[in-house]
Amino acid sequence: MSDVGDCLFCKIIAGEIPSKKVYEDDSTYAFADIQPKAKVHVLIVPKRHYATVAELAQNDPAELSHIVGVAKSIADDAFHGAYRLVFNTGEDAGQSVFHVHAHVLTGEVLAE
Ligand code: IMP
Repeated sequence: MSDVGDCLFCKIIAGEIPSKKVYEDDSTYAFADIQPKAKVHVLIVPKRHYATVAELAQNDPAELSHIVGVAKSIADDAFHGAYRLVFNTGEDAGQSVFHVHAHVLTGEVLAE
């Protein structure tokens, strides 16, 4: 379902590269970012490979909506539902892994 070439996040989803799992269901996987930018920094990914959030929105909007719901639930548990949700899209915007991922930053008061 999620084995696309050398994709790092496909390998994490497949368990070929270890990760600190935060949440999993049939379509979605969430794990701790290795270089956290907030007290709680979780990456949420669809198990099916899409490169960007635009590609995900076009091909599977229900999964995108589901990811937003998973983000809320992580933040409800971590920090009374306050969180920042970021999809870096494109190299020039800071995207370094081309398997769409939502950054959920929470667990503390965030600077603007
Ligand atoms: P991007 O720069 O928006 O594409 O985000 C990629 C994120 O993946 C960065 O915040 C990295 O710290 C994170 N990352 C890279 N490799 C790993 C890993 O092996 N485990 C968990 N997070 C990773």
